[in-house]
Amino acid sequence: MTYEGSCHCGAITFTVQTALDQVARCNCSLCGRAGTLMAFVPASAHTVLSGKDHYVDYQFGSKTIHHGFCKTCGIRPYGSGNGEHGPMAMINVGCLKGVDVRDHANAPIYDGASR
Ligand SMILES: [Zn+2]
Repeated sequence: MTYEGSCHCGAITFTVQTALDQVARCNCSLCGRAGTLMAFVPASAHTVLSGKDHYVDYQFGSKTIHHGFCKTCGIRPYGSGNGEHGPMAMINVGCLKGVDVRDHANAPIYDGASR
């Protein structure tokens, strides 16, 4: 399934191919504050259509993950980094058109705090 996604102001748009079968909430110091529900996908499944000039990179800790946000609306539509199986994207499920986050109310916690 291909989903369309965007930040709140619409500057950043993207598509992602996923079955939404790897959805989790991360408990790291950043995601815990943001409360973001994330879908983990291979980087090749994620295509940015517009707004790369609006995407402000943010890194902390080991600086292995890019936790970017839109410079206009502040939404974090996606992040990226290297996973166990290569380059990954972490998609903010709340940014996806046609997805009801209530369908993922029991999403597991990804233990980012311990990494
Ligand atoms: Zn925006």
